[in-house]
Amino acid sequence: MKIYMVAAESRPFSKTGGLADVVYSLSSELVKKGESVSIFTPLYQGVKEQFKDLEKINTFLVAVGWRQVGCDVYFTKHEDIRYFFIDGHYFHRDQFYGFDDDGERFAFFTLAVKELLYQLMDIPDIIHIHDWHVGMLPCLIKEDEYANNYFKKTKFVFSIHNPAFQGLLDASATRELYGLPYSVYENGSIRFKGGVSTLKAAIVYSDKITTVSPNHRYELLTPEGGMGLDGVLRFREYDFVGILNGIDYDEFNPREDKLIFENYNANDYFRKKNKNKLELMRKLNIYDYGKPLFSLVTRLTWQKGLDIALPALEEMLKQGCSAVVLGSGEYRYEQWLEDLRKRYPKNLAIYIGYNDALAHQIYAASDIVLVPSLFEPCGLTQMIAQRYGALPLVRRTGGLKDSVVLYDGTNEGEANGFGFDYYNQHEINQTCQFAYNCWENLPLRKQLMKNALLTDNSWQKSADEYYKIYLSIINK
Ligand code: ADP
Repeated sequence: MKIYMVAAESRPFSKTGGLADVVYSLSSELVKKGESVSIFTPLYQGVKEQFKDLEKINTFLVAVGWRQVGCDVYFTKHEDIRYFFIDGHYFHRDQFYGFDDDGERFAFFTLAVKELLYQLMDIPDIIHIHDWHVGMLPCLIKEDEYANNYFKKTKFVFSIHNPAFQGLLDASATRELYGLPYSVYENGSIRFKGGVSTLKAAIVYSDKITTVSPNHRYELLTPEGGMGLDGVLRFREYDFVGILNGIDYDEFNPREDKLIFENYNANDYFRKKNKNKLELMRKLNIYDYGKPLFSLVTRLTWQKGLDIALPALEEMLKQGCSAVVLGSGEYRYEQWLEDLRKRYPKNLAIYIGYNDALAHQIYAASDIVLVPSLFEPCGLTQMIAQRYGALPLVRRTGGLKDSVVLYDGTNEGEANGFGFDYYNQHEINQTCQFAYNCWENLPLRKQLMKNALLTDNSWQKSADEYYKIYLSIINK
């Protein structure tokens, strides 16, 4: 099978978030199955400066509405994945996104990819597009009679990673950017909230739609959780699938992780994980009172449930438990944490900033990792925690609901975390207390940690599901 991925970022070249991980990890797994995978992505200035040995293979002009914009195509092969990079003046900036003309920049990218698809003279079985940036590609092809005929065997899969970004543009973008007849807007195919939405266009024109967890799929189909997309998604309900992301098992591997103090596995974890805990506590200057170590590794933002997490943490600190918080983001949470640290200097350590090595050490050292998000399409923190034998304590939303089997007092054979349903102080406090009580029961603690360590959150499992979707639509 020939699979083309089209996305605004992909590891190892460009990454600002989870999208880059998904595109790369999924591609790697598909290559391992023997499939041919190519990734099409922008050549941002920083990437061009860092990776100097990319090969320039093509140059052409792209019509972005009335503008004729120069485009260079660069190529490289990495771990048997072919990477095609689109270069143009739109990407000669110091950041990937966040500009007023992002809509125009990614219109250029999408139109350039369409042009490049012809030039490669190599018709793919699947074009898998990701998020709003490239959402117009299936529409551009299906609304163009020549292209539609040329790519008649190609099927489109669209993955929604973040439904909050909907690619909203003025209605005039239909013609002014994408060169499409106005009727495509007027008939409602791409019209959304009084303008164009590239996200909606992808939902309408793709053969299959996915999002990053089964539970988030369910949430998106409801008026409460759909962010306005529930109507159009319900039209496509039977082609809409939720697939939980995996985590990178090479990057997060307690057996071989060079960033942690002592490596361990599902057989020798108990003593060695404790060694990681003591080393980290010594490094961060906090005391071990023989009680659980709670942690938070997160962006400091309201989405992550900090408003209930920090008071709950304080209740645990009062009882002599320890805690480590690693995060960066909103100032008010930094201040709040600083205040807590001043009041509990012996058992709370905080680190404001982004620190990969410390994150690994925290996962290896922690007993309980808090992930009480208000919403969370998939979430990686809880899966990384399990990989390191730390028990996630989650609010059951989005992917957090799919990835954690809650301990309910009876299911010690399978439970791998703790959780609660409703976003309120009472529930999180009670659940933290419950987790603490369970931790004190040594055989139970050992069993739950082992269950977490043995949980399969690999990308292989997720890739198998995407693969099944591809197989279900090709040759139809
Ligand atoms: P989101 O993408 O919404 O921030 P996820 O749970 O999907 O949340 O992914 C967060 C990832 O970022 C995890 O791998 C987590 O360990 C990491 N992370 C978050 N904050 C920090 C930080 N301050 N330092 C290091 N790693 C962090």
